[in-house]
Parts: sequence; structure tokens; C-alpha cells
Amino acid sequence: MTRMTPLLERNEQFAETYTPVALGLPTAQVIVVTCLDHRIDPAMVLGLQLGDAPVIRNAGGRVTPAVIEDIAYLAFLAEQLASDQGPRDTLFEVAVVHHTQCGTGFLADPGFRHQAAEATGLPEAALEASAVADPHVTVQADVERLLTSPLLSPKVSVSGHVYDIATGRVTTAVDARFP
Ligand SMILES: [Zn+2]
Repeated sequence: MTRMTPLLERNEQFAETYTPVALGLPTAQVIVVTCLDHRIDPAMVLGLQLGDAPVIRNAGGRVTPAVIEDIAYLAFLAEQLASDQGPRDTLFEVAVVHHTQCGTGFLADPGFRHQAAEATGLPEAALEASAVADPHVTVQADVERLLTSPLLSPKVSVSGHVYDIATGRVTTAVDARFP
């Protein structure tokens, strides 16, 4: 018996009616980048089904070098998977979704950040870079960071959104545009 036991029981139920999805282009033609917060589940919040959209999650939903690398690979993979349908003008939209009440917001406080750096061994600068104190501000910055990355395919558009923990509503902060 571990903490996973009840979850594995739920998985048993899931598998009973499961239908596998073939590897192909994500049907929603969207990639979601968002926070790992357990109060946000893109599948529930955005009504995503299996096969709809890849989701990349980290603390804050920040556009880090690792996230940019994943998106670059996904763009390449999408081109390959779509190659039998001829060249495509666009591949997918990356939706960066930051949220209110983010746990990374504490890292905007220098004292808290210093303590976190001491306790975890992580550089203070890295912790500061992951802080989402105002999601409207950080989502703009991250959309810009992705759009100006030399690794971003010109066939990928980027948009920014804010999820409100209090209302469950997602509002668009930055309209989708191409690099
Ligand atoms: Zn968060």
C-alpha cells in the first residue's frame, strides 16, 4: 500500500474504457505551457481530450531554455508527421498560461528567495527568474521571450493567457502572433 494505490485503482477504471490514440498531429493544433500547480489541470480547465494538445509544465509555466527546446523539437516532429500532407504554412499555436496565486510568487520577495536558495542549493537568480508575482506581466514577458528565440519555427504562433484561480476563467492577455 502506497500513496499511489488509490490512484492506480482509478487507473484500472480508466483503462477499462480506454481507446488508444495514434501518434499524429495534436488535433487542437495547440501546445499549452503552464504551471505545475495542482489547482490547474489544462485537461479540465480547457476541456482537452487525449490527442488534443501537448502540455509542458514547470514551476510558474515559465518559458525556460528547456521549454523552448521542447517546442523546437515538437515543431520538427509536427513537420515530419504532416509531411505526407504536403508543406504547411503553420504548425501550431503555443499558448502560455500563467495564473493568479502562483506559489512561485513568494520568490519575488528577496528574503524568501534567499531562504529558498539556501535550502535548495538553487541559484537566487534562477529562483527570481521563475517568480510569477503578476501573471499579466510575466505572461507578456514569456510570450516575447519565445517569439524572439532563434529556435522558434516561423510556422509557430504564440499567445498569452491568465488563469484566475478564483473564478476558473482563462482570459487572453496577448493575442496569437507569429515571430
Ligand atoms: Zn503556479
